[in-house]
Amino acid sequence: NTFAEIDLGEALNLNIRRCKYFRPTPVQRYTIPISLAGRDLMACAQTGSGKTAAFCFPIISGIMRGPSVQRPPCFRTIHVEARKFAYQTGVKVVVVYGGAPINQQLRELERGVDILVATPGRLVDLLERAKVSLQMIRYLALDEADRMLDMGFEPQIRKIVEQTDMPPPGGRQTMLFSATFPREIQRLASDFLSNYIFLTV
Ligand code: AMP
Repeated sequence: NTFAEIDLGEALNLNIRRCKYFRPTPVQRYTIPISLAGRDLMACAQTGSGKTAAFCFPIISGIMRGPSVQRPPCFRTIHVEARKFAYQTGVKVVVVYGGAPINQQLRELERGVDILVATPGRLVDLLERAKVSLQMIRYLALDEADRMLDMGFEPQIRKIVEQTDMPPPGGRQTMLFSATFPREIQRLASDFLSNYIFLTV
């Protein structure tokens, strides 16, 4: 019932205490161990449930412990939280989004990235310009999937996910978060997740 009981690693636990998170919220309590165990996940969780940390913690923890391979880009305005949690962990967070000049974002990307927080349209743009490669990606978190579909981003999402396929055993781990679970989201889950655990909080 405390973050210390979940094996996230020293540096991340320190950041969690700095953020004054004392207890995991329900979505965190149930999803973090699943993600740490390497399982794919579909979680129905509302904004305000603590879902951002629910997918950031296992990703940061996994990157910290993983072999220091090439820095693979992995995922909206989660960046403030992600950066906070990644502070002094050696895990580098870069954010890219549309409606802002791309050049500064490109310069940041060139300096290397472990976690890429991205809106779907801008990410597709970067993929088309060959500025980002998703081939070596280890973790893919799709947040607010229902809203992205409502906004018409399904083609972009599919394009992005298509480019993350790495052959086993190194294949990516995927986390899908959505406030609702209509048929279209069920279809995304069955297309993008493998042998996944479904959770509603
Ligand atoms: P989210 O559902 O990710 O939009 O998060 C909702 C809010 O809850 C954010 O402002 C977080 O900083 C905060 N929060 C997330 N997890 C915890 C926690 N375990 N304890 C206290 N606050 C939290």
